[in-house]
Amino acid sequence: MRTITIRYTAFRACPNCEGRGDDGASWRPEECRRCKGRGRLVTGVEVEDSVDGVLPRSRYDFNALGEVYLLDFDEDEEFEVVRATPY
Ligand SMILES: [Zn+2]
Repeated sequence: MRTITIRYTAFRACPNCEGRGDDGASWRPEECRRCKGRGRLVTGVEVEDSVDGVLPRSRYDFNALGEVYLLDFDEDEEFEVVRATPY
């Protein structure tokens, strides 16, 4: 099956929680809404397609939470998405 491999290549500390992942409350800290508790945001992604190779930036989009959206892909085509690096 066609495989899409996602590698996260760059991160930055979440400016909302300053990398803590929560609001820093000493009692019952609340998960940071911006980074969902991760403490960091994704700023760089590499997407490799088993058919087309490394995709140019115009073929996909991504957000700070590491969700990748493939553009110009046939919706009927099945492919497996592999996250090669944690986020
Ligand atoms: Zn945060």
